[in-house]
Amino acid sequence: MIYNHPDFDHHHEIHVHDDPETGLKAIIAIHRAWNKPSVGGCRMRDYRSDDAALTDVLRLSRGMSYKSVMAGLDFGGAKAVILGVPEHRARNAVLKAMARFLNRLEGRYITGIDVGISTEDVKFMGRYTAHIAGTGPLPPEELTAQGVHAALKASAKHRFGSADLSGLTVSILGLGKVGMRLAGLVLSDGGRVFGADISPDAVESASRRGVTIVPVDQAHRQSCEIFAPCALGGILNPVTIPELNCAIVAGAANNQLADLEDAAALAQRDILYAPDYIANAGGLITLAMEYDRQPESWARSKVAALGDTLEMIFQRADAEDGNPSAAAERIAARRIADLSSERSLAA
Ligand code: NAD
Repeated sequence: MIYNHPDFDHHHEIHVHDDPETGLKAIIAIHRAWNKPSVGGCRMRDYRSDDAALTDVLRLSRGMSYKSVMAGLDFGGAKAVILGVPEHRARNAVLKAMARFLNRLEGRYITGIDVGISTEDVKFMGRYTAHIAGTGPLPPEELTAQGVHAALKASAKHRFGSADLSGLTVSILGLGKVGMRLAGLVLSDGGRVFGADISPDAVESASRRGVTIVPVDQAHRQSCEIFAPCALGGILNPVTIPELNCAIVAGAANNQLADLEDAAALAQRDILYAPDYIANAGGLITLAMEYDRQPESWARSKVAALGDTLEMIFQRADAEDGNPSAAAERIAARRIADLSSERSLAA
């Protein structure tokens, strides 16, 4: 039963869709809903099991609520996953069926890009549904990379006393939309970048732009100041944490910790961890900017403020148990509870 699922966190809504005509199998989870639609991207993956997809959507939607409140926003968190990557010829039919699935939620959920779903895919769904965002002139990955860059700087300042990344080495796992932009920002700061990706095209393009390519299973083991996970979640776990050779972990990937308990292992190794849902909030800020019709300057200042939020979290952690993930969880959980009780009082 869903109530016993380890990642069920009293989610408000969980919808399962099965469309035999197109083969679409998808799940939408709304973790929390306040006065606005709940927001989060749509992921498309070949999951190893249906349960892996359910776990992903439950954890990712919860992470979106945490991301929202820590960025000072009041959008509830939600997420969609599509189980399986269709053949090229069938892709548009699957996306059209996904758009119809979105329509069934009547605007309570707004979707956007995520791993496996491009801006073009979201635009295509937008022909059949109004419940999309992130297709404006400023792509979400742009501000996500800016936010992660701010997180690298705030972490470097806290650990080394200076936010200057020149002369520092950053190892990036995942050279996709965000990872490649982050590499560019670090290189223009005068930093050195190691990078790894399973995609030969991504590796080739990164190499041309000055990234030193390392094998995928070596990215987290590189001797460097900062390890930046920018591929998929679960990279920080009992196997990889003892192998890290860095002072800081700060990156874009959602759910980098395989388990929240793994944050304590990082703290024990004196590795400073920038909680992912603070560092990577730039994409959500872009969607909020579009939805609330705010100017780009509003979004950019919110992204810059992510560095200040991290500094506040690092200071709290120093004064408490040295674990920034635990400090951020406590603050986010309190803000979520406050927003939820305001809403129930208003109802
Ligand atoms: P992307 O799909 O463009 O890039 C991901 C890259 O990781 C791809 O190049 C892929 O080949 C590579 N990859 C996948 N599995 C890998 C593995 N096992 N080892 C090494 N490389 C692997 O996605 P993105 O938009 O750059 O997002 C990267 C991460 O950041 C994701 O976890 C995503 O959820 C998160 N994120 C993205 C945004 C955004 O605005 N795009 C916002 C918040 C969080």
